[in-house]
Amino acid sequence: MEINLIKFDTTVGSTKPVTLIDNRHDACPFCDVEHLTGIIDTDDDIIFLKNKYNVVVGADQFVLIEGRECGVDMPEYSLDHMIRVLSMALKHWRRLLDGGRYEEVLLFKNFGPMSGGTIKHPHMQLVGFPELRAELLFDPIELTGLEIKKEDGVELNISTCPRLGFGELNVLTAFDLPIEPTARFIQAGVHYLMHHFRKNLTSYNLFFYHRSEKIYIKMMPRFATSPYFVGYNIRFRPNNLERIAAEIKRLYF
Ligand SMILES: [Zn+2]
Repeated sequence: MEINLIKFDTTVGSTKPVTLIDNRHDACPFCDVEHLTGIIDTDDDIIFLKNKYNVVVGADQFVLIEGRECGVDMPEYSLDHMIRVLSMALKHWRRLLDGGRYEEVLLFKNFGPMSGGTIKHPHMQLVGFPELRAELLFDPIELTGLEIKKEDGVELNISTCPRLGFGELNVLTAFDLPIEPTARFIQAGVHYLMHHFRKNLTSYNLFFYHRSEKIYIKMMPRFATSPYFVGYNIRFRPNNLERIAAEIKRLYF
């Protein structure tokens, strides 16, 4: 079987602060801007820095703190702030990809307790792997789907061949396309998932992929993962895709 099997340091993992779980009250390290170390770049309150807790053995982990506020998220940002966050993320993703040090660089966001995240403060992560087989990370077909909106060459769609199953929204763009429609499509998509898609959804991920100049962004709602997938690799194509696409069009465009 062809997979990327990577070593994970469980001793580092156990020392990480947790601010997402109610019965743990670790102070938020990203609110404490004065004590941040390893800062690489800033744009006002947006900060790109080295991750203190490198759990992925052999890889370099970075964090992009999206702003000074702890309790907010992407849909509430002004469009200008959202564009600046995204610009910072794409700039450093591209820089690390082109730097020659890494075979592949992951860019993703965890939000909420079911997302795999531990810190509530809105942030994204970049992870550079000196060795990683990029062709095993995704198949572009998982990012294609029913078109919801297209603008300046940037497309928002809902997966017809999802990675897992339900409510996977995708943005298809490229490094040389305008960033503004991408920013708006992510704000709309995340807002839809968190407010209209499923009762009480608490969590989602953003996953960024690339093939040469093309960028694929998946907005993945997170809840208990289907046993059909976890146990047997079976994916579902839900029969409500057209209804969701129509609803997003009606609500946001
Ligand atoms: Zn915070």
